[in-house]
Amino acid sequence: MTERIYLDNAATTPILPEVIDIMTDVMMHDFGNPSSIHAHGRKARTIIENARKIMAKAINASISEIFFTSSATESNNLVIKNSVFHNGIRRIISSPIEHHCVLHTIQYLEKYHNVDVLWLEVDNKGFINLEQLEHELSKNNVATLVSIMHANNEIGTLQDIYQIGHICQKYGALFHSDTVQTIGKWPIDVQSIPIHFLSASAHKLHGPKGVGFVYINSDTVLPPFIHGGSQERNMRAGTENVIGIAGFAKAMEMSVIHMESRKNHILELKSLFKSELKEKINAVDFLGSDDINTSSYHIQNVSFPHSEKSEMLVINLDIAGISVSSGSACTSGIEQESHVLKGIGHDVSRNSVRFSFSHLNTKEDIKVVVQKLVDML
Ligand code: PLP
Repeated sequence: MTERIYLDNAATTPILPEVIDIMTDVMMHDFGNPSSIHAHGRKARTIIENARKIMAKAINASISEIFFTSSATESNNLVIKNSVFHNGIRRIISSPIEHHCVLHTIQYLEKYHNVDVLWLEVDNKGFINLEQLEHELSKNNVATLVSIMHANNEIGTLQDIYQIGHICQKYGALFHSDTVQTIGKWPIDVQSIPIHFLSASAHKLHGPKGVGFVYINSDTVLPPFIHGGSQERNMRAGTENVIGIAGFAKAMEMSVIHMESRKNHILELKSLFKSELKEKINAVDFLGSDDINTSSYHIQNVSFPHSEKSEMLVINLDIAGISVSSGSACTSGIEQESHVLKGIGHDVSRNSVRFSFSHLNTKEDIKVVVQKLVDML
């Protein structure tokens, strides 16, 4: 059987063998509870604290600012809900193209906790309106949390989190960014961005599922979200996922070391993919930003003219051995337009597919996928 081609790396990534090796080793030898004071416990504790150092170094934070969680979804819930419940936040400014774990959390707070919510305008490339952000913040000084993702997971557009952070700082707003799609892919330095919170997830960078972290700037105090024992310095109760954290650390370490070479390789693939598509398929359109500095290199959302064939593209590619995602969320078997594509005003009569790459993909993969698309359309 020929190997399948995986181009859905924005959904999740294959776990690297080096990561599996570390996790296997921890599973076999380091089963101690990190809260136990004996040698088995201390060994497990060391694994977690070493991992924390690696995360902190990756974003230039201090180790006391990193808290491990079960996912970026949990990290985002913790920050957004506890900012409202315990930090006096009465207004949230965000964008309509955030991931559902941010979007639905904010909608919940608006509905059940009387929080004032403002969704910023987004242009057709997916950029938020920075002038509107500044204007809204300058209008009044109600305690505000601004939550804006770094790279969008459906179209790859990168927001200028440096500038957003500076605008928030000018008006005393808290700033949170969902950096799930960029941590380990783009340099992020929390010393040079005025940022209070950010979130990360291991499985987007070739680590395991079910582990993430939240960065909480040391000037900002949030109480725990999950109550119980004193794990994560009382911030996140529950026995730590030592195996997952060890895998996350290895994956992060490798992402940081190989960031530049992976980026160059993936950029080459993306550029080949776009030029081949343009040459061989009529009227394709590329969603999101075209500029390599404001578009995450691992995501390319492609919009195809409407036809019976293009409607079934994700399914037909799957049958042909290629895993990709639709730009649309699939609800009860009915394809509905995604909130992101709606947010950027995507032409609903066209069909879009998100292709997302990793350093494990090859030029050959790209050529095969383009040829399959040509055959199908
Ligand atoms: N935020 C973004 C931008 C994502 O792409 C994802 C995953 O799809 C998440 C948050 C959720 O991450 P996790 O799977 O760790 O909960």
